[in-house]
Amino acid sequence: MSERLHIDWTACRGRGLCGELLPEMLDLDEWGYPRPKQGLSVPRALSGPARQAVGLCPRQALRLQTEATS
Ligand code: SF4
Repeated sequence: MSERLHIDWTACRGRGLCGELLPEMLDLDEWGYPRPKQGLSVPRALSGPARQAVGLCPRQALRLQTEATS
């Protein structure tokens, strides 16, 4: 099992807090909206920062989904 970060684009309002908390996974576009660097699968080493980003997103626009691995 691994985790995948889900971004609710209808809830996100940019400003990019998640990009500051997860710079290994997310770039920010010119308006501060997150832009995945290489997909949204969360490496195990980034599980903690990903949870922090989910918890601190002011719009509750982030969540972690469990995905099956083969
Ligand atoms: S922290 Fe939340 S609202 Fe802010 S840019 Fe990231 S996903 Fe969007």
